[in-house]
Amino acid sequence: MNGFLNEFRTTFQEILNSTNIVITSHKSPDGDSLGSSLSLYHFIKKFNPNVAICHPDEAPHYFDWITNISKIKLFETNKDEVIKIIQEADLIFCLDFNDFKRLGDDFGDLVQKSDAKKVMIDHHQNPSINSFISISDTTIASTSELIFELIFQTDNLLAMDTPIAEMLYMGIMTDTGSFRFPSVSSRTHEIISILLKVKINHSKIHEKIYDSNSLDKIRLKSYAIVEKLEVLPKYLTGIISLTKEELERFNYKKGDTEGLVNSILSIENIFVAAIFIEHKDGIKISFRSKGRFFVNELANKHFNGGGHKYAAGGFSSEKLEQAVNRFKKLIAKNEK
Ligand code: 5GP
Ligand code: MN
Repeated sequence: MNGFLNEFRTTFQEILNSTNIVITSHKSPDGDSLGSSLSLYHFIKKFNPNVAICHPDEAPHYFDWITNISKIKLFETNKDEVIKIIQEADLIFCLDFNDFKRLGDDFGDLVQKSDAKKVMIDHHQNPSINSFISISDTTIASTSELIFELIFQTDNLLAMDTPIAEMLYMGIMTDTGSFRFPSVSSRTHEIISILLKVKINHSKIHEKIYDSNSLDKIRLKSYAIVEKLEVLPKYLTGIISLTKEELERFNYKKGDTEGLVNSILSIENIFVAAIFIEHKDGIKISFRSKGRFFVNELANKHFNGGGHKYAAGGFSSEKLEQAVNRFKKLIAKNEK
């Protein structure tokens, strides 16, 4: 952790002094974007009642158990209300993203153009957000850890309660692959130790996130692995692509392909994994790596995306087969 004590203190002063605070995070919510947003929301509420969370789109259904998840206002379904909230904001938190494009074009423009002071708290490389306060550290495993540090370093640990601790635990757990990625540090475990001293049911959180799959999701995953996994042994790479029709066959719901790319990576002698999912607006791509290959560079240069060294994503407007073939060629050229 590279300091940030002054930034955390200034942020806390802004929380106390602002009139209307908004918390935003990236499209396609994950455990860390929700965990950091909701923990910060509960924390701010203790000092300032005027805080709202505005996200671009809905979270997958396996997050439905979260208390107060319905308090999140969605730009995709509640545009007018969200526009008004952003226009009235004087402090906007930008959590877990490094570029306004990650909010989607329209919502991203709205937030970028707002006159509110912006506080960016993030752990992705190459942040391009011009903010009043920037707390960006790529060595930290999750944005939720940085929210913990905001609370800790401003001497507000006494404000930590079960809802805050649960959401921090969820964010850290999901962005560290359950505490196993290289980015996990002794500090990560110290933080978890402090969170467990608050009354939280950590095993319930694991069960809700990882052991609450729908039958359709498990069947889609099994089909994808049995019928669609293509292994390129020479390049230590595994690829799965799924068409819209295949998703429909398994009653696809948002989040149903979550984790599939990690299943590919769990195979021995596979060091790069990719999934290409055909949605109505284009191909959503996820890349993972076990370390020999930095997938964020590939995602950024060739697939309009980015992310972390070992977990990245992107998007393509090509036909599914074209995008997959282009990826295969890049891998064959060892292109990064
Ligand atoms: P996932 O594969 O789980 O969707 O995303 C893995 C990581 O890649 C995310 O944490 C995020 O950092 C990054 N990522 C995913 N999709 C995109 C994208 O479209 N653009 C950028 N810049 N990063 C992405
Ligand atoms: Mn994150």
